Amino acid sequence: MGAVTGLAEAKRIVVKVGSALLVGADGANAHWLAAFAADVARLRARGQQVLVVSSGAVALGRRRLKLTRRALTLPEKQAAAAAGQSGLMRAWEEALEPYGISAAQVLLTRDDTEVRRRWLNARATVETLLGLGVVPVVNENDTVVTEEIRYGDNDRLAARVAQMIGADLLVLLSDVDGLYTADPRNDPSAEHLPRVTRLTRQIEAMAGGANASAGVGTGGMTTKLAAARIASAAGCATVITLGSRPSPLQAVEDGERATVIEPSTTPAAAYKAWIAGSLAPAGALVVDDGAAEAVRRGKSLLAAGVRRTEGRFDKGDAVVIRDEAGHEIARGLVRYEADDAEKICGLKSEAIEAALGYTSGPLVHADDLALGAHAPA
Ligand code: GLU
Repeated sequence: MGAVTGLAEAKRIVVKVGSALLVGADGANAHWLAAFAADVARLRARGQQVLVVSSGAVALGRRRLKLTRRALTLPEKQAAAAAGQSGLMRAWEEALEPYGISAAQVLLTRDDTEVRRRWLNARATVETLLGLGVVPVVNENDTVVTEEIRYGDNDRLAARVAQMIGADLLVLLSDVDGLYTADPRNDPSAEHLPRVTRLTRQIEAMAGGANASAGVGTGGMTTKLAAARIASAAGCATVITLGSRPSPLQAVEDGERATVIEPSTTPAAAYKAWIAGSLAPAGALVVDDGAAEAVRRGKSLLAAGVRRTEGRFDKGDAVVIRDEAGHEIARGLVRYEADDAEKICGLKSEAIEAALGYTSGPLVHADDLALGAHAPA
């Protein structure tokens, strides 16, 4: 049954863990965490990369601050998050430590996943952590966000993170074992859906009312499907399953119930479409014939083949790559800001460091290139 969810095959997995799983009456739920850590260790041992999106800061902090009796105001929630986040990280570290796995705290806001430069920085950091074999533990940086700019729920944050790092699987650990045609708790005719190939309006309507918040966390089934929609468009499959079992990932691989929502594209195609279509180019790089040919063959754009730059772009901005006849060849994310890019036009890679005092590699890396001419943004 494991192959059905893709859990055994996925290379990069984002698992969202909600407060209800992590926080019990006496604080962090060490038992559950220990069993979940075994899950993580098993995936890591198979060579899979795992990133956890963990809630629980507010739930832990409000206990610590004795703010348990009533609904919290936003500043109180933020204070609780600040007080609880360190305990949350300690719980993760203690759970992963027996397996020799390090955890790393990554606190993100919506800006970090939407403003391109911050997005690129966050992505680079998370990539580095994953490359080092660390398990990044991501949460929203609740202290600095306002109501308007909050994700508010970690389901969507998890989907954005999955998109950011090109994950191929997003697992949302929930308080139900998947998606049903109606709320299974009060409708005995509700049927479980093992697989959703496309998120239609009809499917989304099924989520209405089902799996309402358990009181500790925030996301219901509606936010889970919103997350699945983001993931699907980013080329990432979503698995919704019951989180409260010990080692819930192992349970799914052993055939326990889950709903899989299929991706509508691949992560690489989604990323290229994002570069090609949704970013307004901030400038252009005019390249010689050799570089144009190399880019067409899927190679990185090196400074040596660039004749001149146009526009005032920043590092990380989208730029158009044009040949000298004015034909657009590709779009890509540039690794140098305009002044520095201009200074290194025509230089061999080895000479960049001497010219600028640093190097960021090719002007545009092959991974950040989308080939072809695109509609002007
Ligand atoms: N960021 C919040 C916390 O750590 C949780 C948000 C959510 O549960 O979706 O407590």
